[in-house]
Amino acid sequence: MNASNQTGCGLPEDLRHYYLDAMGIQLWQSLQQPSAETVVRPASAEDVWQRLEQAVSGCCKCELHQTRTQTVFGVGDTNADLLIIGEAPGRDEDLQGEPFVGRAGQLLNAMLAAIGFTRAQVYIANILKCRPPNNRDPRVEEAEACNPWLQQQVELIQPAAILALGRIAAHHLLNTEQSLASLRGRQHQYAGIPLIVSYHPAYLLRKPVDKRKSWQDLKRVKSLLNDGHSI
Ligand code: URA
Repeated sequence: MNASNQTGCGLPEDLRHYYLDAMGIQLWQSLQQPSAETVVRPASAEDVWQRLEQAVSGCCKCELHQTRTQTVFGVGDTNADLLIIGEAPGRDEDLQGEPFVGRAGQLLNAMLAAIGFTRAQVYIANILKCRPPNNRDPRVEEAEACNPWLQQQVELIQPAAILALGRIAAHHLLNTEQSLASLRGRQHQYAGIPLIVSYHPAYLLRKPVDKRKSWQDLKRVKSLLNDGHSI
């Protein structure tokens, strides 16, 4: 059986209605009076997030569901101006169910503090919702299978800016294979939203000398959020 056809992988009905409604598409309704059980109540934004997280937690669209402890959905303010996108959960994230909680996460918190944000004031997610075994790079088919979840998060948050952390996140979001060096230092777009590329905190832990360049990227993000354009 194709993994995507397995039960538990579909979009919940009220979530489907929410998205269709947001797209301005009205579903044909039967003229017959629906019975109490068939009435689909309009979902609030909170409901939608809850249902989306629930759908992600049951996802089995790629083989990573077999080795995960749990999915790592995302964390923070669902109305945040700034969306941070990393690569994939590591061991700590897989165990705790939250992105960026290990050493790289502590550095990310410090980077955010440097531009005046707490973790709770931004939204943090990853390209993949499940940990790749032994922290190997995400495979193309895994990123493609996972992409609709991230897309839905972006649509719901509608951030003013996205910060892509590291080569893997930048490549998947921008659909390019250009080097990180060539992607840094300028403004990109993802789904019409300005996107800045910077170093992954795990890389900065290995190569602290590049923290200076990372600071330039963070200032670019701050300026984008303050003035609508990056420095
Ligand atoms: N690295 C990532 O890219 N994401 C995490 O959540 C943790 C480490």
